[in-house]
Amino acid sequence: MALAKTKAMALFGLGGTLIDVEADISSNLPNFILVGLPDASLSEATARVRAACANSGLALPGRRITVNLSPASVPKRGSSFDLAISMAVLAASGAVRVESVEEWLHIGELALDGTLRGVNGVLPSLLAAKELGWLKFIVPADNLAEASAVQGITLQAFDHLTQVAAFHGSTVERVSPRKLELLVKEPAGTSPCYSDVFGQSEVIDAMVVAATGGHHILMLGSPGSGKTMIAERLPSILPELTPTQAIETAAVESLSGIHGSISTLPPFRAPHHNSSASSLIGGGLSIPRPGLISLAHNGVLFLDEAPEFQQPALEALRQPLESGEVYISRAAGVARFPARFQLVMAANPCPCGFAWDPAKNCRCVEPAKSRYLHRLSGPLLDRIDISLKVNNVPKALQKERGPKSSDLRERVIAARQVGRSRLAKTPWQLNAQVPGAYLRRHWRPGAAVLASLDGALERGTISMRGYDRCLRLAYTLADLDGSDVPRASHIARAMFLRGAELG
Ligand SMILES: [Zn+2]
Repeated sequence: MALAKTKAMALFGLGGTLIDVEADISSNLPNFILVGLPDASLSEATARVRAACANSGLALPGRRITVNLSPASVPKRGSSFDLAISMAVLAASGAVRVESVEEWLHIGELALDGTLRGVNGVLPSLLAAKELGWLKFIVPADNLAEASAVQGITLQAFDHLTQVAAFHGSTVERVSPRKLELLVKEPAGTSPCYSDVFGQSEVIDAMVVAATGGHHILMLGSPGSGKTMIAERLPSILPELTPTQAIETAAVESLSGIHGSISTLPPFRAPHHNSSASSLIGGGLSIPRPGLISLAHNGVLFLDEAPEFQQPALEALRQPLESGEVYISRAAGVARFPARFQLVMAANPCPCGFAWDPAKNCRCVEPAKSRYLHRLSGPLLDRIDISLKVNNVPKALQKERGPKSSDLRERVIAARQVGRSRLAKTPWQLNAQVPGAYLRRHWRPGAAVLASLDGALERGTISMRGYDRCLRLAYTLADLDGSDVPRASHIARAMFLRGAELG
């Protein structure tokens, strides 16, 4: 047989295209040609495949080998095609069975000694191929953990080229494949606990409110007041991810080169303020790559020293905050990545950070001070429901330990349960997602409950947006108290948590 084919997968965003990998061996002068829009790293595949086969006792024939990847119009990148190319060529040369190779989709990079190496994007490749109706996959053993998360497919995982060849009927010595393990549900993982935070019970209480309603939050406070410790513990009180959410998050991680077992702990991502808009939102040359906001999907995005972020990076958050997804356009098309995250921002009260600290001497002058926080103004602040002052812990409270995260998480789960029946009649899952107009129309508490809020609106001390924020927060506070509708005390507390209007 001089002609053979198998399948591979080309990813674009989280979607993909099934690729036919066809090998033809003719009696022309020895050569190895790859056609069908391969990029540079893919072109090197010919060298890797030739060496890997030779070093595995499966030397390729000294004739003309042509491998065609189709459809040619789909961009293909990287080394994940090595295994498919090698199997198509070995089948065409008669070393393995053509019918067997044809039945499987192959993913994997080859080392020069024939070792099969893990690659990025295996989980989204399998999900996308399954969507297209393809169900039989051979993957590197290194990617087995993420691959096992996909239900309803047939999966084989191997460590070496010779094992794959033996599986397809080659006579080279057979080594048994690594045992397949089914997806083991990871425990919640290890997130740091709020009991490590001292003297900030009021702020931790606000984090419980944020976790319950999914509210975005801004913390203002001097350096050293513990803003980062408080933020990075938010995942520890969020409900565990559902299996579907865990797979979504792991698929994005896989594209970014993070492989491992699937975790049900919501992710926490804290980009540095020097991060470019493309590292935050996503980028890549011809093939789009997800950014940190997509790695924070179903979890928390923390922007420490938020006013220091570049303006384009902050601006770029606007669309994903509204839609929960991000689109990246390239010549070959538009890729979509999920990006539904809870935003936590922290900022100093002034450029030097010590405006509120009587012990330190802040010399920031007024225009610079207000300019500093106004970098955050506009669309970003519109999305923030909770705005808090985080004070340095006074001596008297420095030994007061915070509550255990596991206890707080139970409160959050119970409170979400209270809100669930109300939200079930809407398109939204969390209170933070409910638009103001809907709140005022359908969820309006009685006039007596709203008296203080209506009064503030009449006096002009609160804007319409601020009014809506208070209503949203009041529902979350009511859920935490097990109450169907907010009471006046919930409105009062909501007005406090909303904080001062910054912009
Ligand atoms: Zn200052």
